[in-house]
Amino acid sequence: MTDETTTISGARAHLECLECNRQYDLYQVLYRCPECDGLLMVEHKEDALHTLSATQWKNVFSARMASFDHPWSSGVWGKKEWVLPEIQDEHIVTLGEGRSPLVGLPRLAGELGLAQLWLKQCGITHTGSFKDLGMTVLVSHVRSLRARGIPIRAVACASTGDTSAALAAYAAAADIPTVVFLPAGKISLAQLVQPISNRSLVLSLDTDFDGCMAIVRAVTSADPALYLANSLNPLRIEGQKTVSIELAQQLNWKVPDWVVIPGGNLGNVSALGAGFRMLKNAGLIDRFPRICVAQSANANPLYESFRAGLNELTPMQARSTLASAIQIGNPVSFPRARRTLREFDGVVEQATEEELANAAARADLHGMFTDPHTGVALACLFKLVNSGVIRSRESVAVVSTAHGLKFADSKTAYHAGQLPLRAEYRNEPVQLPADEQRVLQVLHERLGD
Ligand SMILES: [Zn+2]
Repeated sequence: MTDETTTISGARAHLECLECNRQYDLYQVLYRCPECDGLLMVEHKEDALHTLSATQWKNVFSARMASFDHPWSSGVWGKKEWVLPEIQDEHIVTLGEGRSPLVGLPRLAGELGLAQLWLKQCGITHTGSFKDLGMTVLVSHVRSLRARGIPIRAVACASTGDTSAALAAYAAAADIPTVVFLPAGKISLAQLVQPISNRSLVLSLDTDFDGCMAIVRAVTSADPALYLANSLNPLRIEGQKTVSIELAQQLNWKVPDWVVIPGGNLGNVSALGAGFRMLKNAGLIDRFPRICVAQSANANPLYESFRAGLNELTPMQARSTLASAIQIGNPVSFPRARRTLREFDGVVEQATEEELANAAARADLHGMFTDPHTGVALACLFKLVNSGVIRSRESVAVVSTAHGLKFADSKTAYHAGQLPLRAEYRNEPVQLPADEQRVLQVLHERLGD
């Protein structure tokens, strides 16, 4: 019998090309297949994981979920053998990521006619977004590469805000320098101040995210001592896939009928699929949920591709959206996402600015404080319920990707009526003199008798 402190031996992982299936050592620094330029995935020797029964794994995971010890106190590293099995514990850089709340919204589920509705609060974490889940793995891996003598001077990424915040924090914890490439004027103040505080070299470029991505790819290939941290890098997907494992664990190893997830660069949906795939292979769940990728109508290349049969993706110029982290016109992980959508009987829906802002505000009426990306996911959920694709009495988990406090500016503008849209749930402060009678009058008007 295995207890929670044991690292299960024999588990191994390698890099594998999604296109030509060539295999590479995990400790080679590669971002794409050297033979065919295909995307790489981390593939696990799952037979080794299957030396434990499903029941044994459930017991291991549940014991670790209750542990305060390094590294099990991290929601990601409590699943270590499924994530990065060979890493040494002293190389693991954790800031307490994962173990995020799964919040039930029974009243909203009732309004929608659903059996159950949950918000998986991945933004309730150290830097305020789900990116922490992938970055703990990437930065830990960089630390183990450096320990093997591989010269890495700094880690670099392009970002719409959240990725750079996560990279800067984890790398600072590990004392590794970082360079972040941000589109000037396109990220929130809260997101910009995070890498600045963690002493990143912040390069603000006069372009959009896709332009920053092109630059960082060129720079990291010209200078191999700069390590690329974008989601092109498959290490991040390994951490992000613990969302599905944790979600199933929180539902006592059941899966909802649907999982709705916002999609920009599309690493996240690929990760979600990878987690469920490993769970089913190991017998911890007996079926897959269906997956909906939710896109902003202003940055919807996957939606357009889905409508045309998912055979290819035509890059577009992404337009400005409140959901700034998914304002991406040329998603790097499209081939990975397509595989997941096909395997999980997936759909892609889109939400306009008005739909996403109102959906976020509607969820807030239930005690949430929803960021615009989760607003996109919720708006798409509402549309799929209306169109009958999601049927009544089904259960749905919505993946919330960021903390609403990162978007206090746009949420304030919504309630002040300053956005160019019809704010259905607008709620402004009432300006009053400090006069008891006037206050009583307003209370009577607003709250009734
Ligand atoms: Zn290849």
